Amino acid sequence: MNDIPSRARAVIIGAGIVGNSLVYHLARLGWRDVVLIDKGPMPNPGGSTGHASNFIYPIDYSKMMMELTRDSTEQYKQLGVFTEPGGLEVARTPERMIELRRRLSAAKAWDIPAELMTPAQVREVVPFLDDSVILGGAYFPTVGVVDSLRAGTLMREQAESSGALTVLANTEIVGIDTAPDGAGSVSWAAGRPGGRITGVRTTAGDIETETCVICCGVWSPRLARMAGARIPLTPIVHQMISVGPIALFADTPGEISYPIVRDVDLNMYERQHGGDMEVGSYAHRPMIVDADAIPSIEQSVLSPTELPFTQDDFDPQLAQALELMPELLGDERAGIRYAINGLISMTPDGHPVIGENPEVAGLWTVAASWIKEGPGIGRAAAEQMTGEAPEIDIHEADAARFWPHQRTVAHVTARAAEGFNKMYGIVHPAEQWESGRPVRVGPAYDRERDLGAVFFETAGWERPFWYESNTPLLERYAGRLMPRTGEWESRWWSPIINAEHLAMRDAAALIDLSAFAVLDIAGPGALAAVQHVAVAQMDVGVGRVVYTSLLDSSGGFRGDLTIMRLAPDKFRVVTGGATGQMDLKWITDHLPAGCEAVVTDVTSSWTTLGLWGPKARDILARVTSDDVSHPGMPFGTCKEIEAGGLTVLASRISYVGELGWELYLPMEQGAKLWDAIWDAGQPSGLIAAGIGVYGTTGRLEKGYRSFGDELTGDFNLVEAGMTRPKVKAQDFVGKAAYLAQREQPPAAVLCTLTVDDHTSSSGELRYPLGGEPVLGPDGAVLTDSRGRTSYVTSAGSGPSVGKHILLAYLPADQAVEGSKLAVEYLGERYPVTVAVAGSTPLFDPANDRIRC
Ligand SMILES: Cc1cc2nc3c(=O)[nH]c(=O)nc-3n(C[C@H](O)[C@H](O)[C@H](O)COP(=O)(O)OP(=O)(O)OC[C@H]3O[C@@H](n4cnc5c(N)ncnc54)[C@H](O)[C@@H]3O)c2cc1C
Repeated sequence: MNDIPSRARAVIIGAGIVGNSLVYHLARLGWRDVVLIDKGPMPNPGGSTGHASNFIYPIDYSKMMMELTRDSTEQYKQLGVFTEPGGLEVARTPERMIELRRRLSAAKAWDIPAELMTPAQVREVVPFLDDSVILGGAYFPTVGVVDSLRAGTLMREQAESSGALTVLANTEIVGIDTAPDGAGSVSWAAGRPGGRITGVRTTAGDIETETCVICCGVWSPRLARMAGARIPLTPIVHQMISVGPIALFADTPGEISYPIVRDVDLNMYERQHGGDMEVGSYAHRPMIVDADAIPSIEQSVLSPTELPFTQDDFDPQLAQALELMPELLGDERAGIRYAINGLISMTPDGHPVIGENPEVAGLWTVAASWIKEGPGIGRAAAEQMTGEAPEIDIHEADAARFWPHQRTVAHVTARAAEGFNKMYGIVHPAEQWESGRPVRVGPAYDRERDLGAVFFETAGWERPFWYESNTPLLERYAGRLMPRTGEWESRWWSPIINAEHLAMRDAAALIDLSAFAVLDIAGPGALAAVQHVAVAQMDVGVGRVVYTSLLDSSGGFRGDLTIMRLAPDKFRVVTGGATGQMDLKWITDHLPAGCEAVVTDVTSSWTTLGLWGPKARDILARVTSDDVSHPGMPFGTCKEIEAGGLTVLASRISYVGELGWELYLPMEQGAKLWDAIWDAGQPSGLIAAGIGVYGTTGRLEKGYRSFGDELTGDFNLVEAGMTRPKVKAQDFVGKAAYLAQREQPPAAVLCTLTVDDHTSSSGELRYPLGGEPVLGPDGAVLTDSRGRTSYVTSAGSGPSVGKHILLAYLPADQAVEGSKLAVEYLGERYPVTVAVAGSTPLFDPANDRIRC
């Protein structure tokens, strides 16, 4: 056993696939004095890695997860632990056959080999499968299995032999020490209540350190609590059995010769493992386990993450597996040789948790990773810890993405229980969670409910997506609503959205924007603070509103928001609810050294109402005596006005392409302003409109980009068509990269496409929803000179232009207005035209309606 050092640059806790990958990449990036600690013995300390089925499907609807898996697969191949038997997803229902077509389109978008198979073709590659119970399958030839314990051992040993790493096995972390965060004049109102890391306590002694990384899989919440923090993850049971000996496998070479089968309609998988067949299930009742209830190594019959098997829960699944593989699993000479209630991690949104914990400085989390993305996550986390922008955009996995209520045990367990049986489910991209709602409601919630609002949730906020009370508008706008008859596109959608859109363009709409995250930056260093993160020039006059990107050090998008200058030493940042907590941490983390500024999250203090449309000024003028004329309040300015007997911060900007305002006021007064505007607006035809208009139809007609869709770490300002003539003289994060990007011709150009013909082979009109591959005239997916494939980043109706609109980055030489391309949707090709190459809006290209 190694001696325990008294000090370390970083202590990594947990030697599963994640911890081992992380130390390997830290060593590669030049870290020294790193300590890896596990309470169990090497090479299998008792975590989930030790009993995983170890298979890797390359396909995922999330680009981030797909890229992490792709990177991990490459790393496993380099380590020589990857075998490629291929894999199938079989369909027992017509709905699943349709879903498999969607999977294939996603595969094409990400350049993953895949093909649809008939039952007979499936049987050719999996001869022991009863093809009479299936309707077909999707075959993915690059599905593989890995030896994750061996991979971890190799990575750990490489880090050790480079002199970077000390490994302490059989050593338990029993405490994590913190001290108050001595950040001096800089404070963060949301708080780092846990202070900063000073060291860890172990069963073998204490280690001083400023950086502690929790890579503890299902134990992670327990470790976080030692430091006064919360990691929103829960252990949950995933049952797996191993049946053998299987006669057919007796003479097959190596661990696996037959493709892995995912019986997705039944939430199960079957995978050869030597002479046995492993059968795993996500179909049983969700069995949440408290992280504190995970047994110790001594208490465990097998290991702490292999809990005793509960046969009753599995029996129905075994019967269904028998249906699919009757001869093989029904062989009387074979029996269940191994059966566990294995533990896996689940988070409220199904994504991993990577990054520095927002509550405690120096406390990092790299958890809720599967084997399939472990090494990729290890690399991304190591890059982040080194201060680099990760090569793969991992903002969807950011440890800072959760609002406080989303970290509670009640929320995490409710969402985990709700999500568990959807593991292989057919999940619509707009599908809403049901559990733990409502949590955050705006001040006009009751009014909205009375108007028949259909609420979607973002960051805990209930946001009206459309209003059933607007049903009469369907008649008014009949013929212009682009109605959808396809079941999939009609889900979580209503033609009322398009009617609300047209009513807004004709008169005016009131939109509840309470879900905005609002951050105030104040103090003598406030200007320096915003200059340092914003691409745009922030040294503007008081009362100016600036739309700006935030970049990472490589010049990738890290944020997209507006900043108002409220005073010489005070700025207000307004950003999306979903990114609010990440933006708060990013801005705080990037305060220049010694900067005297306070960043305060005032989201719960301020509500926002949006009022837009050609009649917006008339309506606002009826509730205020302040000058809201164009000369009195030009576009891009903000000022305090009196409205409806309240003081309101009015900001003249637009995300929907209309004259209008965002109106900010104290949360508890929001309902009164809603009523005042509502009453004043009725003579002008004001309607309440939902986020369907704000986030999709209005936005897309104007070609406005959205963070996480068009604006990701993979593309840059030049490619997004968002450069400004000049780059400000002041330094800002990502400036050097941005200057270099401006010198290069873009490899891709963000374009607006319109669908020319929606008619499917069955004669039904179909509407792509996003994520579809963009194909050239030869039917191949377009790929730019950097190897990036073209896919639809956003899709939606453009009722005013009468077209279904798609945004997509196209290779620069294909970004030619008027050129004809195609989009693949549900296995069929739909012709599209490049309507705009660049950022000129389709609707009102001169922006006359905004600047009037
Ligand atoms: C039955 C089953 C089948 C699976 N099959 C697959 C599959 O086919 N493909 C796939 O991609 N994924 C699969 N998974 C998921 C996968 O196993 C896990 O997601 C993955 O192994 C997690 O790795 P990890 O490094 O985060 O955690 P772990 O491997 O659990 O490692 C965490 C480590 O932290 C250590 N630790 C905890 N507390 C302390 C402490 N206080 N002090 C010191 N050390 C501590 C533990 O001892 C443990 O070694 C499967 C899971 C199960 C249960």
